[in-house]
Amino acid sequence: MELVFDGHNDVLLRLWRNMKAGGDPVAEFAKGTPGGHIDGPRAKAGGLAGGLCAIYIPSGELVLKEPDQNGHYVTPLSVPLDHLPSLTTALEMASIALRLDRAGAWQLCRSTADIRKAIDAGRFAAVMHMEGCEAIDADLDNLEVFHAAGLRSLGPVWSRHNIFGHGVPFAYPMSPDTGPGLTDHGFELVRACNTLGILIDLAHITEKGFWDVARTSDQPLIASHSNAHALTPVARNLTDRQLDAVRESGGLVGLNYAVTMLRPDGRDNVATPLSDMVRHIDHMVQRMGIDHVALGSDFDGASIPEEIHDAAGNQNLVAALKGAGYADAELKKLCRENWLRVLGKAWHE
Ligand SMILES: [Zn+2]
Repeated sequence: MELVFDGHNDVLLRLWRNMKAGGDPVAEFAKGTPGGHIDGPRAKAGGLAGGLCAIYIPSGELVLKEPDQNGHYVTPLSVPLDHLPSLTTALEMASIALRLDRAGAWQLCRSTADIRKAIDAGRFAAVMHMEGCEAIDADLDNLEVFHAAGLRSLGPVWSRHNIFGHGVPFAYPMSPDTGPGLTDHGFELVRACNTLGILIDLAHITEKGFWDVARTSDQPLIASHSNAHALTPVARNLTDRQLDAVRESGGLVGLNYAVTMLRPDGRDNVATPLSDMVRHIDHMVQRMGIDHVALGSDFDGASIPEEIHDAAGNQNLVAALKGAGYADAELKKLCRENWLRVLGKAWHE
């Protein structure tokens, strides 16, 4: 089994929703739950050793717009969120992450040494990530507190606009160049992340925002859960020019398992073969090299191929990559080591 450290999941969102309906997040993660993609037992079964766990403020259930007769769709951007209710939700999700750590259900990791120690001990290695920074105030006065609570990665925007920048819609086919990039507050946020050692994630940001971060940040460029626009032209995927910039910066792109971002037709259809996942990995490896490609499943945040089904099926992708000719040393980089390298860089280790 090739253990995987994965760049993006929404398990905190699922546990938070269940908690609001009376569930116990610690018991659900430790003992397992029906539905969803990740819990402790299924992660163990699929060799999912850890990953970046998102604090994400839901916009309500995202329903993709129905494609027209050409298979084209443009789902309107979600409406912007207010700061204070977003802060409340973010604190509740951060609390779940800390409770899981306190109970020993997972280990909340603040360094790559923490991640390696957790993996060696067989504990799920969780890193706290924030996907869209509606919970952060314009003056960044609360960023230190989130950092102290374990926040080590953030994406300034999700697929909606906020005070830091602009996100791309879920649309097919569409260029990622859909609007403005970072705001002045967004540039300040990038500089603060560079200072504190918080990874900056470019998933969901407009192409202009991508280039704004590229010319401002001193970190490797990271898109934690995005694929190749050349193969699936949704606005969420990266163009070859963007992939080239990721390579030049020493960064990486994590393969998103969302079927809408893998299939050539961009449809929400879970009958998506593993070969579509391998094609995106192949393209990104050819374009950037084996050191700049990793995994970013989007478990608990997207419709994924039925052959994966949930975290327990994660090794089916590893087997497909093996079958496509990837050697063990290459699989190790794709599955874990590339993520650990870029995290160490962003965290000033
Ligand atoms: Zn996402």
